[in-house]
Amino acid sequence: MPNPFRNLPSVNQLLESEPLKRMVDTVNHNVVADGVRTFLDDLRSQVANATDEIAVPTPSEIAERVAVWLEKSEQPVLRPVINGTGILLHTGLGRAPLSSESLEAVTRIGEGYASVEIDLDTGERGQRIKSVESILCELTGAEAAAVVNNNAAATMLTLAAMASGQEVVVSRGQLIEIGGSYRLPDVMECSGCRLREVGTTNKTHTSDYESAVWEETGALLKVHPSNFEVVGFTQTVSLAEMVQIGRKHGVPVIDDVGSGALVDFAKYGLADEPLVSDSVKQGADVVLFSGDKLVGGPQCGIIVGKAQYINRIVQNPLMRAMRVGKMTLAALKETLLCYRDEEVAETRVPLLKMLSVSSENLKLRAGKIADQLDHLDSIKVAEVVACHSMLGGGSVPTQKIDSWCVSIEPEEMSVDGLASALRDSDPGVMGRIHNERLMLDVRTVQPKHDIELVKLFETLS
Ligand SMILES: *Cc1c(COP(=O)(O)O)cnc(C)c1O
Repeated sequence: MPNPFRNLPSVNQLLESEPLKRMVDTVNHNVVADGVRTFLDDLRSQVANATDEIAVPTPSEIAERVAVWLEKSEQPVLRPVINGTGILLHTGLGRAPLSSESLEAVTRIGEGYASVEIDLDTGERGQRIKSVESILCELTGAEAAAVVNNNAAATMLTLAAMASGQEVVVSRGQLIEIGGSYRLPDVMECSGCRLREVGTTNKTHTSDYESAVWEETGALLKVHPSNFEVVGFTQTVSLAEMVQIGRKHGVPVIDDVGSGALVDFAKYGLADEPLVSDSVKQGADVVLFSGDKLVGGPQCGIIVGKAQYINRIVQNPLMRAMRVGKMTLAALKETLLCYRDEEVAETRVPLLKMLSVSSENLKLRAGKIADQLDHLDSIKVAEVVACHSMLGGGSVPTQKIDSWCVSIEPEEMSVDGLASALRDSDPGVMGRIHNERLMLDVRTVQPKHDIELVKLFETLS
């Protein structure tokens, strides 16, 4: 019997072949050589373990296959995604897309040195926060501000700085879990505070807070129940009432508003999102919110409030562990500047743009995409269907926004197969599967991607 291994090409031979030579140039010699070795090892063991004689591929076939396999494994894990899920602040997809102005600022500040902690007026060491503090105060009415890595960090740092070793009073209706790894009782424990639960799941009264406050109380904490709603017989204590109790006993009030609306979202059909400026106005000593939820900026946690508390917070050693870099500051500043004029914010901040776009516009775009997909051999039906977008990111969970989507039924492929192939493309595409159809909500698809989206479907057929 002829030795089947004799016909296998050597590693060097393969590296000299056209497709792999190209990859050595574009990827890296060692990576490609390792890939070739692994592929040949696999092939050898397949041949050795085969019960019947198997056809050994030719050297050029092997080279082709290694190239395809390497190309796939070299595809970046972090790559752009066309979001057809209709979830505007999809945490798995990186929450808010950034405006082009923010990205220009990131490039300008990121590519060189910048006055991150130097006051260019005096040449002296300054504070990192200065670049965004004044605009944050201007927009929220607060005296001072700080920025950290995210709102979870903001909560942990604030509690550690203001109430470490003391009790923090929270209503049982507000002990939230967000996205699994954020559970308020755990965050509180990490920051060295003792949780003092008051009230019940559905009802908490002012008297519950009143009777919980004593000399060990470090703060009263209000938390926006971002991702759930209690309906039926409910009773909550307003921020103003909490502030009254706090003032009476000399205990600060912290308000974690979560999403952090800087404009009234009611006009987009989303009611009940507390405005950061209202919290400040009602007397909260410290207000916490995310930069990448309703603000529509980069991932960060924003802390605003009374100067005496913000000073304590920024002087806590944890601040250093949670501080943000120059690129986040640059993107945040640029995003915040848009909010000086609500109309400007609506045309520049992508989140607000997606919310304020007209239904007719969305229907038209969905129609154009559907028409083109409907002509493809691989697609049985592509049509426009009314659907609902959602804010996501733990914001206003029960409110749905009317939208339009392209509903797609593939010809031969299964719907799951189509969804998987689209996720695998570059950029990846994510939709929702509903009734054996793939649904792509155009509200969250950036208009500049409409053509690319159709092209991706063409390459699948
Ligand atoms: C989302 C949210 C958080 C966590 O914010 P991240 O920026 O994701 O860390 C904390 N509290 C509330 C009320 C939230 O809605």
